Amino acid sequence: MTKITKAGVIGAGVMGSGIAAHLANAGIEVVLLDIEKKFADGGVARQLKANGFMDKSFAGRITTGSTGDDMGLLADADWIVEAVAERLEIKQALYKAIDAVRKPGSIVSSNTSTIPLAALTDGLPESFAADFLITHFFNPPRIMRLLELVSGPKTRPDVTAKIHDFADRGLGKTVVVCKDTPGFIGNRIGNYWMVVAQNEAIAMGLDVEEADAIIGKPFGIPSTGIFGLLDLVGIDLMPTILRSLQNALPKTDAIHDYDAEPALIAKMIAENRLGRKSGAGFVRLSADRKTRDITDLKTGDYRPMKKVASESLDAAKGDARALMEHPGPGGCYASVVMEKSLAYAAALVPEIADRPDAVDDAMRTGYGWKQGPFELIDRLGAGWLVDRLEARGLTVPAYLALAAAKGGFYSVVDGRRSCLLPDGAVRPVMRGEGVITIADVKLSSKPVVDYGCAALWDLGDGVACLEFRTKMNTFSEALLDAIDAALGEVGRSFKALVIGSDSPVYSAGADLRVFLETVETGGSEALGKFIDKGHRTFMAVKYAPFPVVGAPSGLAFGGGCEILLHCDAIQAHAELSIGLVETRIGVVPGWGGCKEMLVRQYGLAGGTKGPVAPAIATFNLIAPAQVSGSAFEARGLGFLRATDGVTMNRDRLLADAKEKALSLVDGYVAPEPPQLPLSGPSGASAMRNIVESEALAGRATAHDKVVGAALIDVLSGGPNADPLKPTTEDEIIALERRAFIALFETPETVDRVKHMLTTGKPLRN
Ligand code: NAD
Repeated sequence: MTKITKAGVIGAGVMGSGIAAHLANAGIEVVLLDIEKKFADGGVARQLKANGFMDKSFAGRITTGSTGDDMGLLADADWIVEAVAERLEIKQALYKAIDAVRKPGSIVSSNTSTIPLAALTDGLPESFAADFLITHFFNPPRIMRLLELVSGPKTRPDVTAKIHDFADRGLGKTVVVCKDTPGFIGNRIGNYWMVVAQNEAIAMGLDVEEADAIIGKPFGIPSTGIFGLLDLVGIDLMPTILRSLQNALPKTDAIHDYDAEPALIAKMIAENRLGRKSGAGFVRLSADRKTRDITDLKTGDYRPMKKVASESLDAAKGDARALMEHPGPGGCYASVVMEKSLAYAAALVPEIADRPDAVDDAMRTGYGWKQGPFELIDRLGAGWLVDRLEARGLTVPAYLALAAAKGGFYSVVDGRRSCLLPDGAVRPVMRGEGVITIADVKLSSKPVVDYGCAALWDLGDGVACLEFRTKMNTFSEALLDAIDAALGEVGRSFKALVIGSDSPVYSAGADLRVFLETVETGGSEALGKFIDKGHRTFMAVKYAPFPVVGAPSGLAFGGGCEILLHCDAIQAHAELSIGLVETRIGVVPGWGGCKEMLVRQYGLAGGTKGPVAPAIATFNLIAPAQVSGSAFEARGLGFLRATDGVTMNRDRLLADAKEKALSLVDGYVAPEPPQLPLSGPSGASAMRNIVESEALAGRATAHDKVVGAALIDVLSGGPNADPLKPTTEDEIIALERRAFIALFETPETVDRVKHMLTTGKPLRN
């Protein structure tokens, strides 16, 4: 990876502070400057509040200062990002000041959304222009994956290549190379889609509820739809952004067909109804603060929110094409907005990007669409869309007509996903070098074994990958069987195993429904068998004669966390929420979670402090069901070991996990079974004190105390445990099993499980 060890960010507002925080997340030293040092300090404080840091301690990687006094701090920076107000003269003055202090060959970039690169570098030395490019982050910079890169004719190619590589691997971004055109890709198409969706709904006098439901989910667009999104970004921002685009684009551009500030929007701005930031927008909390009011698009006044009523939506049953074909108002709205937006995107290639996949990547990762415009067109049918545009009397973009003739924009050629370019050539879609996804593997191969609820894939070089395929990747008996079978297959035919997939959820743990049904039909005995089965499977993962690497991303709760704790190593995506959350449903971790966390905590304590401290540390993690907000926090909590890896770019997770697995192959021996002393009564009484003080403080409920007591029994080994005598894993497993079953026999735990199943929320009984 390109080495960037120190970065500078100038401007500590919404974007600059978020970019600085994310650079710190990538492990580099950052200097953050604003007009006054206190503004930069305020930016860091805001990011701490807004979770811009993947670990709060990373704020310590940022040094703050002022542009008046501290420009010298930038002298050894490898990359300096400018994120000040969107004014050309301010930015240019700053570039001169930066150029006076920066080291030769350092890279300077602007986060501008609207100012062309040509204008930014106009009049500046050639040497500056050679090191300059635009890096356009989306808000919030930690979360939004899109980074648009624009370089100019004078930008050195290796400058662009360096930032491209660092943003991909170091910052985890989906880097999309754009041309120097207004709004680049995301905002050019996104803002057009927004103004069409906004103005057409207003012109039709639709209900906000219906418009949002129509223009959201059926098209794989976030459920905020249009008005929810406007409330989020700020209603007053839209006219400014649209006017700026209209000023920058020729009169022939379709963006001119729409009023940048319709009367309703002007009225709302005048009344300070700016969206969430002013507490009232298209939606506001009603006077009693219990319900919501909605802006009536016909009158501009508030009325109570109502359930979505849409004949078109009901008739379409989630099918986008049926929705657009429906004659009701909702269908007409869907068709005008999507036909125009998709045609607009098709007309802009190659003007704003050379390829359709660049546009689709941008809309997916910058606007949260599940599919980009060209993928959506393929879903609807390019030929069908051409007919619709012709029927509406709209120009059919030549590129769309070409796709209609060729059967769509995307195809699979020689096992590789490929796309049609405007010149008629078909080329593989862009992939970062070394990226592995199951989606790609699927196109070129069949599973080694398809277990239905899971599949085993060949990642090459002797490494297999086990993909879970249940809902939220929860564990059923069948999935446990599949894991067992896969371990056998890997033992016969591979060198190592990765457990992971492309899914945004690693695993939500055991399937609660299965637990409940098992208890209801077979009682404690059947439950015990299910517990034993999970234990056996996870122990088989741990003691397999080859390396097993867990590759989690997103969420890994309960059993999902426990299987990872039994892997030889974890290669985690930085965005990982991991935890043993069993107490929320009134049980204790029953598949080795207590055991493995004791082992880890014992290791962390160096095994020198005796068994009480590791037991308390484990208790403090499991009893309150602590979960991490990132892989770095997971390391702090002890779920990840110092030797486990973190991958910033989700697309690189499986490739990194494969590398990790391969690094463990030579001379691999399965781990030695640990022998831990358990603390017995002394540890138990220390843990009981914690429960008592939590109860006194009103934080532990009556049933929390029961669950706490059961957990204490496991972690201390019970009253007969002898701290001088090591306990085996099987003995701890037996304690987990006993506690789990005893808790499931209480009505309060069953109530918690049922409540979680029906509401998705913990019951505090
Ligand atoms: P902002 O108003 O929140 O922050 C701008 C910061 O720059 C302020 O803290 C201000 O004090 C500081 N500043 C102004 N002039 C300065 C100077 N001469 N020297 C040092 N600091 C100075 O703005 P923002 O939303 O963070 O936008 C910053 C840039 O990012 C703009 O170019 C904008 O177009 C772009 N952008 C914004 C977003 C967004 O969603 N807000 C998204 C992408 C890009």
